[in-house]
Amino acid sequence: MKTRAIPYGRQHITEDDIKAVAEALTSDYLTQGPKISEFEEAFAHYVGAEYAVAVSNGTAALHLCALALDVQPGDKVITTPITFAASANCVRYCGGEVVFADIDPNTYLLDINSVRAILENAPKGTYKGIIPVDFAGRAVNLEAFKELAEAYDLWIIEDSCHAPGGYFMDSKGERQNCGNGNFADLAIFSFHPVKHIASGEGGMITTNSRELYDTLLQLRTHGILKDESKFTNSIAFAGGEDGYPAWYMEMQQLGFNYRITDFQCALGLSQLKRANQGLERRRRIAEKYFKAFKGSPFIKGQSGIVAGHAYHLYVIEVEDRLGLYEYLREQGIYAQIHYIPCHLMPYYRQFGWKEGDMPQAEKYYEGCISLPMYPTLSDEEQDYVIEKIRSFYG
Ligand SMILES: *Cc1c(COP(=O)(O)O)cnc(C)c1O
Repeated sequence: MKTRAIPYGRQHITEDDIKAVAEALTSDYLTQGPKISEFEEAFAHYVGAEYAVAVSNGTAALHLCALALDVQPGDKVITTPITFAASANCVRYCGGEVVFADIDPNTYLLDINSVRAILENAPKGTYKGIIPVDFAGRAVNLEAFKELAEAYDLWIIEDSCHAPGGYFMDSKGERQNCGNGNFADLAIFSFHPVKHIASGEGGMITTNSRELYDTLLQLRTHGILKDESKFTNSIAFAGGEDGYPAWYMEMQQLGFNYRITDFQCALGLSQLKRANQGLERRRRIAEKYFKAFKGSPFIKGQSGIVAGHAYHLYVIEVEDRLGLYEYLREQGIYAQIHYIPCHLMPYYRQFGWKEGDMPQAEKYYEGCISLPMYPTLSDEEQDYVIEKIRSFYG
């Protein structure tokens, strides 16, 4: 019985989504229309942050964060090697230096003890920031990271691409949503089709800092501002008499065009309405995998069922990963590997990173495999995936 190909992740587009995009396309705006701020407000509300800035993709969001936090050539920033390269690359875009710290083998997240050891071994001021990643959808305990960051004067960018709707419980027993800005200075999300919410390409930055918010708005659109209370050239220069003329604007810093379009935001908004439904379905899929493989001898590891996990990915660690991966492909099941440790990418090797530097991350990479995980994965399809994995291991 060969069913249709089963990928590790995929988008879900409904009739309502199509209608929302069609409406935006026939409105007066293609870009810079009302759907952008609507999406920003709805998303900020969803994660519980004060401000949100929608941008062209998650990588642009990371770049703007690094710019807004003023990463300068040579600035050292700590992140995890088990992430998509963009989490680290944003530091390089500004000429900063990426310092990898190892992962916790139980959570697969940046290990706070490994970060602490790095910080303790250098004079204060050596490092500028930390970029923890809510990998696979599991929320980093940012309360703990914030305490460390305060002790060493560091900023935090939370890469929450995998975790819209995810959360952790803080030391007071209160729920802390990924991207809510209570501990991190800035958080970023991606709306690439494999993520929870799709807008085609798209990204979002959330923050509780009004100052960073204003800076991000400028940087998103060339560094231009139109708020006349902030103009520095004279009214006379601008060509006005009693005040600045209506056409006048100023480019005060070097920004980019990282804008998103109105119709993409219409799609994002429509998808956001179903985000909690999708999360629920992801959690049920995770529970089923977890029960199916619990105690299986071929499993070297699987992250248990964790409250607040957004399950962008369902990762297991197995024996003979290559054999399983190829066998599943023959059955039409396209599992994926997340991630090849970033510090061993040829680009990062040029800075001296080598095998053995991140023992936990490298051991994890030997066995990790991400199983199909997306809201429209049917029960039958999941059963088929489970059955094929069992039959491979005999
Ligand atoms: C997808 C992703 C990004 C980049 O997002 P894009 O929208 O593809 O640019 C960054 N970090 C992580 C962890 C991601 O999964």
